[in-house]
Amino acid sequence: QINCRDVCKSYGAFEVLNKVSFSLAAGAVACIVGPSGSGKSTFLRTLNGLETISSGEIQIAGGHLPPRSRSEINNLRRKVGMVFQNFQLFPHMSVRSNLTLSPVRSLGLSRDEANARAEQLLDRVGMLSHIEKLPSQLSGGQQQRVAIARALAMQPEVLLFDEPTSALDPEMVNEVLAVMKELAGTGITMVVVTHEMGFARSVADQVSFMVQGQLIETRTPADFFDHPEDPRLGKFLSMVL
Ligand code: ATP
Ligand code: MG
Repeated sequence: QINCRDVCKSYGAFEVLNKVSFSLAAGAVACIVGPSGSGKSTFLRTLNGLETISSGEIQIAGGHLPPRSRSEINNLRRKVGMVFQNFQLFPHMSVRSNLTLSPVRSLGLSRDEANARAEQLLDRVGMLSHIEKLPSQLSGGQQQRVAIARALAMQPEVLLFDEPTSALDPEMVNEVLAVMKELAGTGITMVVVTHEMGFARSVADQVSFMVQGQLIETRTPADFFDHPEDPRLGKFLSMVL
């Protein structure tokens, strides 16, 4: 479902992504780990067309990047959802409106359909009883669970997560990881940039290491954590584990 070949991205003379190649099967979960500034967020943003690439090719959710037409990029953005570190809910709207706005506007759902879908998704992430609240009335972990439900309301084929638990107080991390773990079993394709090594080991089908704009190692979790090949990965793991 995702195939990247030699993806490069530069800001001026600075190469943020250097020949990144990456594949992920439909329904599988990939985790990407690596030091700060290595290009993880930039890579995720290239996957839904939020960043243009300088060279290389991406195939994702049936579309291509660079896009071949305007409709292809719009289609692709709808099929590839994203969950950010800082939730980015619409602050002046209720949880309900956060979940129904785009499905009504962009997918053409009726209000009733959008409401029914919102309620079902909020139930799934344990947030149905908060449906009339504003984001500011929720904890960070609750806001992030709403943000995940909002992404799911667009019925994406692929969901990208950029350090979804990094902005949370420690006691809220597990409630978000639990929702993501549950999602991982449902057939949606997930790419998760994270520092949660326990999550990567227990939930991911494959784990990749990014350093200085390169994906240097993609392995099964067991091989990745127990038999790292590149010395830079060994050193990184010894610092974070
Ligand atoms: P972190 O773990 O801190 O989130 P990251 O791996 O997500 O880091 P990126 O945010 O992708 O790293 O950034 C990779 C590099 O690209 C960094 O050196 C950053 O300073 C640089 N960079 C990111 N965005 C821009 C930009 N718009 N213009 C110039 N340089 C940028
Ligand atoms: Mg980042």
